[in-house]
Amino acid sequence: MHVCGTHQDTLVRFGLISMLQEAGIEVRPGPGCPVCVTTAREIEEAIALARRGKVVATFGDMFRVPGEKQSLADVKAEGHDVRMVYSITDCIAIAEKTDKDVVFFSIGFETTAPTPASVILHNPPENFSILSTHRLIPPAMEALINMGELRIDGFIDPGHVSAIIGADSYEFLSSKYNIPQVIAGFEPLDVLIAVYMLAMQIRNGEAKVENEYARVVKPEGNEKAKRIMNAVFEPCDISWRGFPVIPGSGLTLKDEFAGYDARKRYEDELSALSSDYKEPEGCRCGEILRGLVNPDECPLFGTMCTPQHPVGPCMVSREGSCNILLRYGEKM
Ligand code: SF4
Repeated sequence: MHVCGTHQDTLVRFGLISMLQEAGIEVRPGPGCPVCVTTAREIEEAIALARRGKVVATFGDMFRVPGEKQSLADVKAEGHDVRMVYSITDCIAIAEKTDKDVVFFSIGFETTAPTPASVILHNPPENFSILSTHRLIPPAMEALINMGELRIDGFIDPGHVSAIIGADSYEFLSSKYNIPQVIAGFEPLDVLIAVYMLAMQIRNGEAKVENEYARVVKPEGNEKAKRIMNAVFEPCDISWRGFPVIPGSGLTLKDEFAGYDARKRYEDELSALSSDYKEPEGCRCGEILRGLVNPDECPLFGTMCTPQHPVGPCMVSREGSCNILLRYGEKM
């Protein structure tokens, strides 16, 4: 299993999945798309804030993912102030030009979390806050192992996340669960070499973390980025789409930055939200994110659900398995 949307793009775009299948090796995607694992409740939080007069800003993919019924794009079409931005810096620029409260719907794994952390450390405007849906990859990998729904023989670890957290961060998985891991880059050869290295570990009865992407990933990762991230955020328990609550797998703002935490700042306005929003009817994104089914096993794939009219997040995001398969499917 891999846990990275870019790895899935490489595997499908270059026809590697079918080639590896012919060799008896199955590579399945896990919860590697940050847009896809964001829950319907988190999207409902952003929608609720937009409905209550805040300016809500987020990245393009997140804009179109449905909550229980509507997406932020739908809410914008109703006249609420939702903006698509390319970076958190754009969002700060919006906050500097308005008296309204501005909320950045901040998503991503360890790769993106240092950026909002850095912004928070540089005293952003007082009308600015973030709705954090940042998540940590290693706890999700551990949850996949513990859930036991799928026999995972090895992990291809994500290159981008590993550049921040470092190869050493995965050691506990190999030592505790006896599972081989290889950190891989994103070129087709990177992924093929990683699969080969995993196959060698399995054949030799080994379970360790190897680093195919050593040209970028260091054992200790990016110390400065980790320091910034850890200065502002702390781990919290959080549910992922398709998963129960995974202990310590989310990032929440530390108490000293509560003024920039949209959940604390607008606690009263968010308190009426349900804790349990339904997934879109018929959508199998949750099972896809746990590696249990392939996108074309969803009855809505390519018919009721397309990139133009997505039903679930895996069809919205360009890192989502459904979107990727529909774009490159003929090469599988
Ligand atoms: S094809 Fe659409 S509805 Fe089916 S799992 Fe993928 S995103 Fe969900």
